[in-house]
Amino acid sequence: MDRASVKPGLGTPLPIVPAATEGAPARPTPLPPPPPRFAVARRLVQGGVLALLVLAPFLDLLRFDLVAGVLVLAGHRLHPGVDLWAVYGIVLVGLLWVFGGALIHGRLWCGWLCPQTLASEMATKLEGKVLGKGRAAKRGPARALAYGGTVVAGAAFLAAAAVNYFLVPAQRLAPPQAAWVGFGVLTALIAADLLFVRHTFCLRACPYGVLLQLVQDPKTMRVGMADEDRAICMNCKACDRACFMDVSPRDRDRRTEAACLLCGLCVDACDRVFAKRGREGILHLRFPAGKPGWPTWLSRIGLSDARRLGLALVTLGVAVGAVLVMRSREGVSVTVRPRYDDSRLTAEGAVENVFDVTVSNGEETARGFDVAVDGLPGVVVRTGGRIEVPASGRVTARVALELPAGAAPPTAGAHPVRLRLVGPDGATVLEKSASFFVPGKARPR
Ligand code: SF4
Ligand code: SF4
Repeated sequence: MDRASVKPGLGTPLPIVPAATEGAPARPTPLPPPPPRFAVARRLVQGGVLALLVLAPFLDLLRFDLVAGVLVLAGHRLHPGVDLWAVYGIVLVGLLWVFGGALIHGRLWCGWLCPQTLASEMATKLEGKVLGKGRAAKRGPARALAYGGTVVAGAAFLAAAAVNYFLVPAQRLAPPQAAWVGFGVLTALIAADLLFVRHTFCLRACPYGVLLQLVQDPKTMRVGMADEDRAICMNCKACDRACFMDVSPRDRDRRTEAACLLCGLCVDACDRVFAKRGREGILHLRFPAGKPGWPTWLSRIGLSDARRLGLALVTLGVAVGAVLVMRSREGVSVTVRPRYDDSRLTAEGAVENVFDVTVSNGEETARGFDVAVDGLPGVVVRTGGRIEVPASGRVTARVALELPAGAAPPTAGAHPVRLRLVGPDGATVLEKSASFFVPGKARPR
């Protein structure tokens, strides 16, 4: 009997392991199986993002108060019409990060932060567990029903989380009819996506993928191997099997680069393969090197040329500006618009001017103000002298000023005045400059 074929057991000799021949390279010592670092880190990030997305409206981090026409952001109540710069800055930062960032970090957003990716992966896993794969997939209607029901329940959960962004706290236990309609439509769309579309959407329809094909260049973050490592690739395809986007990280064609979500699962798979050979894998997720002479530390964080550095600085600048504008904004703000067509000099010699005074109250309690005017001797508030604004509300009042007949008439033309909002304690809360216009000709009332 061939001694090498004897199975080890009680009373049988151990198989003979040929001794290393002198001069021949020693076999590498296998490493313990490496932890799936990208898989673990990614699940933690995805779980955190999902929790944040669900909790954000409850914590007033982000929600849309459609009743008051207010955007609630990090506890600040922003009126898009009044706090235009803050809202514009925040939207711009989001667009710069999501779309401009595609140049720097490719589809990293899709692989690590996008809820569609997480939900699709969960649905695929659930399908494998409940229905099985291949021939085992025919497991009967009961399992198909269980799978479909679980997916629809998950879709309903995501739809409820999305609708919650548009409800005020008092509506959460008794949502209006429109919210139920939105919930139903969203549940159907998400369920259809998770049952029939999933990652095909990311591959074929996601506008972000299309945009990426337009903006990415050789310095965009990518997964791949160094040219010198290609020779030691064992073509085991463990990396291909790990990829849920159905691309091979060893390819460098445009399809791969546009489809790869930079999840790093293929890197984990390759690390496992090479651990048996006593070394780390040959696939890496990283930013390519910057141009010669460019600071290495900047290249390591993806800012490998002036274009990327400029984009990052602009995004940072806009973000800082938006935060400063938000922090410096008043709880109450006012805008004054003159209604020139309503300015008149009456036959009796009085001058009237009408203004639209819009007061926004970003505070949680209602506020009331008296309107006062100064800056032009004799001018008084004739009508609209009291403005009440509900909590988180905005009111536009028509305020008429009058320079009575008998007051020393100013010359025709515009005269500066100050409109003041006076609080209950008699103190001026806000004031705005305006022009009191004196027409050249008298017009009847
Ligand atoms: S190629 Fe690798 S990093 Fe890219 S999606 Fe597939 S598994 Fe993830
Ligand atoms: S897992 Fe690593 S060794 Fe195997 S095919 Fe992929 S790159 Fe090559």
